[in-house]
Amino acid sequence: MIPALMPTYNRADLAFERGEGAWLWTAEGRRFLDFGSGIATASIGHAHPHLVQAIAEQAGRVMHTSNLYRIPQAERLAARHVEASFADSVFFCNSGAEANEGLIKAVRKYNSEEGHPERFGIICFEAAFHGRTLATLSATGNEKYLAGFGPPVEGFKHVPFGNMNAVRDAIDGSIGGILVEPVQGEGGVRPASLQFLRDLRACCDEYGILLALDEVQTGMGRSGKLWAHQWAGIEPDVMSSAKGIGGGFPLGAILAKEKVAKYLKAGTHGSTYGGNPLACAAGNAVLDVVLAPGFLDGVDKVARHLWRGLLDLAQRHPTVIEGIQGAGLLLGIKLRSEVSNGEAQNAAAAEGLLTVAAGMNVLRLAPPLIITAAEADEALRLLDRTMLRITPSQARDAAK
Ligand SMILES: *Cc1c(COP(=O)(O)O)cnc(C)c1O
Repeated sequence: MIPALMPTYNRADLAFERGEGAWLWTAEGRRFLDFGSGIATASIGHAHPHLVQAIAEQAGRVMHTSNLYRIPQAERLAARHVEASFADSVFFCNSGAEANEGLIKAVRKYNSEEGHPERFGIICFEAAFHGRTLATLSATGNEKYLAGFGPPVEGFKHVPFGNMNAVRDAIDGSIGGILVEPVQGEGGVRPASLQFLRDLRACCDEYGILLALDEVQTGMGRSGKLWAHQWAGIEPDVMSSAKGIGGGFPLGAILAKEKVAKYLKAGTHGSTYGGNPLACAAGNAVLDVVLAPGFLDGVDKVARHLWRGLLDLAQRHPTVIEGIQGAGLLLGIKLRSEVSNGEAQNAAAAEGLLTVAAGMNVLRLAPPLIITAAEADEALRLLDRTMLRITPSQARDAAK
């Protein structure tokens, strides 16, 4: 018989009762070091007192009023995002897919209002991930995810990630923008080179089309800067955010330059829950932590420490690990084809470390941004044991 909870996920047989910082406990009292953060989402760790208090206080006053009225918490959160980023205006929603869905609409609307309704196409990249709605799945372009769901949404062209010639070749009169993740998260924790991001910016300027960034996974401090594109010294025209932005409370956002945002007038786009008082109280509390002086420097520092440790780990386990990749606290251990990332994920969990598998046989690490160097060291110790567990037996024998 089908489970009451629809079986759309292959779940590990673990359920957590409480968390604190980077740690989670099951009801039986087993403790885990959480280097997955619920897929890069519990950005400031579990049960952060400031976030807990902000949510509890707001819930006790008013959670939801709808966008028929002004929402001071949303006005404040938007103003703070504008102050801290390239954006002139922000739209709030509830998830990454919803943010990308709106971003795609914003790109199309901009081109249409600028006199080019035929430019509804968007260039996307192989191994991208933009979400599970029909349009964002079409932007994702993964055949496996699209199978069985009828015709995809029109207008998405996929080219190899990092290949500027392929991008230029794909630009024709139907293209109104380019959508890219600064680091492909689900696709295997593959960072775009900073030069590639700069070249995309220049290319969009040359053709008068929009540069759209999906920073759902890379944003809100995960790279060591508030937004990953800041490392490249460029600005997008429009950007999606979600995951870490609410610290575990569902919140998404579209951040846009005025030239794009000005066409999303009253009635063009909406969301009943989007940016409600409770979600924005959470968003403001997360920003309080992430924008506190020195916080992002701390992320950068602990990320570099973890990176060095992972390089060392890779050197000690050459029969299992092919390489280390990623940026900031979004890191991938690329495994050799003899071992699978699913096997590694299970072995890590058996050692007490939670990780998340990603594409291209990568084991992804996306710890809360508040981890200490000691917690990074503990994760490295557990990863060392994990790698021993999954070392293919011939290699283990040969090493003896
Ligand atoms: C997770 C993710 C999404 C989708 O977000 P949901 O909240 O699951 O809808 C979109 N883009 C990227 C880059 C993501 O990592």
